[in-house]
Amino acid sequence: MKKITIIIPAYNEEEALPYLYKRLEDLMNNMKKYEFEILFVNDGSKDKTIQIIKQMREEDNRISYVDFSRNFGKEIAMIAGLDYAKGDCVIFMDADLQDPPELIPELVKYWEQGYDDVYARRKTRAGETFLKKFTSKMYYKVLQKLTRVPIQKDTGDFRLLDKRCVNALKKLRESQRCSKSMFSWIGYNKKEVLYDRDARIAGKTKWNYKKLMDLAIDGITSFTTSPLRISTYLSIPTFLALIIYFIYVIIKCITQNIAIQAFQAIILLVLFFSGIQIMLFGIIGEYLGRIFNETKNRPLYFVNEYNGVKETND
Ligand code: UDP
Ligand code: MG
Repeated sequence: MKKITIIIPAYNEEEALPYLYKRLEDLMNNMKKYEFEILFVNDGSKDKTIQIIKQMREEDNRISYVDFSRNFGKEIAMIAGLDYAKGDCVIFMDADLQDPPELIPELVKYWEQGYDDVYARRKTRAGETFLKKFTSKMYYKVLQKLTRVPIQKDTGDFRLLDKRCVNALKKLRESQRCSKSMFSWIGYNKKEVLYDRDARIAGKTKWNYKKLMDLAIDGITSFTTSPLRISTYLSIPTFLALIIYFIYVIIKCITQNIAIQAFQAIILLVLFFSGIQIMLFGIIGEYLGRIFNETKNRPLYFVNEYNGVKETND
């Protein structure tokens, strides 16, 4: 029997857990062909989340959990989930039932057809403010423009990943994580499934603008060094201004037969030295960018198949 691990990061979700378990139980009863593991990652909750999970485990041995020493954030909870998952595939799900478990049979269906990464794309999102939807849209746009790693639109973390994707992701051990770009970066056969995103069932969102900013900056800086290039590009107009002004001053001095004036010399010197400084920053930035990329210690590529045999990344 194939085993499916459902990974659920949970941070202060005591109110949502009973509903969640009910829906998951229905799901498991409907999918008797599979063995299930429900893996909670308790991300340093300050409420009764962990007690509730422990109690649930006593009643149902399909439930297991990883308990963090403190709050590390959802991204880290997700990688811990991958590390502890025992299934042949994993499914990431939020604890607040915004990702309907009823979609899981469809995700599994495509997995059985041979897809490695079946991701759920939101058709609609209930219970979210206009501002959140807008900023999230802009974030995807900017990320897409800057990083060149294609990112699936309107896709959260609700997705099914085959074992080999799990093994691939486990090899990307950088600390500032942006799962969304990583899912895409590892490649493999992807399949999109559409769904309507529900409103949170209970409790409050842990999302805020600071978290979005952090996620956005991590997302951009962990996949590209292009912001470091800004300096190099800025030095070009500075040097151009220097050359044009220099020629203008020379021509003026020669044609009107006068000596170079103090303010002209000062402007020339300022342009010259600021040009050099900006350029040097750019050079340092280029090297910094290379060091940055190397210190991440990522494998250079993953093999999909070798002589007709699928690579499992073991
Ligand atoms: N979460 C977590 N650690 C955190 C914040 C959130 O594990 O520091 C979990 C949370 O319990 C939930 C999921 O991540 O299962 C999504 O969080 P939330 O619903 O607050 O975000 P939103 O859906 O509003 O973007
Ligand atoms: Mg939510």
